Amino acid sequence: MIIIMDHHASDDSIEAVLTRLDMAGFQIHLSQGVERTIIGAIGDKTRLGGLGLEAMPGVEKVIPILQPYKLASRTFHEEGTIIKVGDQEIGGDTIHVMAGPCAVENREQVMETAEIVKKAGATILRGGAFKPRTSPYSFQGMEEEGLKLLAEAREATGLLVVTEVMDVRAVPMVAEYADIIQIGARNMQNFFLLRELAKVDKPVLLKRGPAATVEDWLMAAEYIMSGGNYNVILCERGIRSFENYTRNTLDLTAVPVVKYLSHLPVIVDPSHAIGKWRFVPAMSKAAIAAGADGLLIEIHPNPQEALCDGPQSLTPANFCSMMTELKQIAAAVGRRMD
Ligand code: PEP
Ligand code: MN
Repeated sequence: MIIIMDHHASDDSIEAVLTRLDMAGFQIHLSQGVERTIIGAIGDKTRLGGLGLEAMPGVEKVIPILQPYKLASRTFHEEGTIIKVGDQEIGGDTIHVMAGPCAVENREQVMETAEIVKKAGATILRGGAFKPRTSPYSFQGMEEEGLKLLAEAREATGLLVVTEVMDVRAVPMVAEYADIIQIGARNMQNFFLLRELAKVDKPVLLKRGPAATVEDWLMAAEYIMSGGNYNVILCERGIRSFENYTRNTLDLTAVPVVKYLSHLPVIVDPSHAIGKWRFVPAMSKAAIAAGADGLLIEIHPNPQEALCDGPQSLTPANFCSMMTELKQIAAAVGRRMD
């Protein structure tokens, strides 16, 4: 539930509400704005009746949050959340393009890709050092060596770095190198991993599971937020459907739906959704038009040689021309791409 204090609520009346909630076993999330204080209280709602909050001095109203996700819900936080990462803001006016190879393969590939990403006007470099591969015989990633290369590319270009963590044990290591930590689609409901990321002081990019409903996805975000990390970026990356011409089915309906239900930024990964590079630009444009706050795009200096996801990776030339088109779409919907 949300307790909205009135404009003139004194510190003492706020304190009294907090104490009463605390004694009743509620988890408290305090938001002290310039105008007024809003208190989020999560807990057993059957204990709410006897609390008499509405009658307490300084309380303007008490609003129940009906959805099972609370902190992720727009009822909890009416304004869209803007997540600050380095010198960038995700969820504001600027559309962020996160681009790079599926997997970090070697120094030359990462540095070359980072230069292309930077030159094309994207702000964040992506690249996996731990790869969730369907086959145990496929390339599994360079692990810490790969993370070091991403950090080196950040030094050289000023780009921020997003990279995936697959295992609780690797969280401290990945957090040391990454600016944003990615949870892959396959791990969206790995609740131990979600809980671990709740304790980390880095934003989390949470991919939607291939068979997850919007509610499942927001509940996964709730795990991270309820543990103390409010900086969650949601990423739609396609869901399983009967269609098999494309790798997955990009659920663009999720963009306006999730933006309506939640205050969290939403980005779209058309590369893993479609699985074929040819269709990535069209769906990237559609995603921005639909209100996405950013894109996650796979590119490779030479997709034919890629160790992972070559067929869906754009060449540098295709990526650059797509970026030019995206800037026009962004401008048409009142967004910027710097
Ligand atoms: C990736 O981003 O490289 C990846 C493995 O994506 P997903 O988890 O969406 O399959
Ligand atoms: Mn990939």
